[in-house]
Amino acid sequence: SERTLVLVKPDGVERGLVGEVISRIERKGLKLVALELKKVDRQLAEQHYAEHDGKPFFESLLEFITSGPVVAAVVEGPRAVSAFRQIAGGTDPVDKAAPGSIRGDYGLEVQYNLVHGSDSAESAEREIKLWFPEF
Ligand code: ATP
Repeated sequence: SERTLVLVKPDGVERGLVGEVISRIERKGLKLVALELKKVDRQLAEQHYAEHDGKPFFESLLEFITSGPVVAAVVEGPRAVSAFRQIAGGTDPVDKAAPGSIRGDYGLEVQYNLVHGSDSAESAEREIKLWFPEF
């Protein structure tokens, strides 16, 4: 079994979609092993999105992710990383995310794509340490 870090981003929290996201995770058969509502400071945001440093959308992404509380979760199950990315849908909610996925059902713009899920088991380990240092 594998772990992944899931975030409901500020747009998802603001729109009242926390329950919907958690519900889809649970219905898929994945397990919540940590869950927290968290205000994200600049330092955590920079560390989380370090791979995007220098990209044109980096500054705007940091502003967005620090703009309000996020829900962070550690999710566990067989192939949890891929399983959650399937539930979430592709990064662009219109061009990439299929209907029936979280982003496909609720998203319109690439920045405001509601959720984050680690992209590999290695990223998951790094991100879980970052978001849940006590875990
Ligand atoms: P996440 O890492 O949040 O799960 P992802 O792995 O699907 O998303 P990445 O390519 O890692 O996508 O991009 C990280 C986040 O940066 C995206 O989820 C989105 O919020 C934002 N983003 C990506 N591309 C753009 C863009 N072209 N313009 C604005 N924001 C973007």
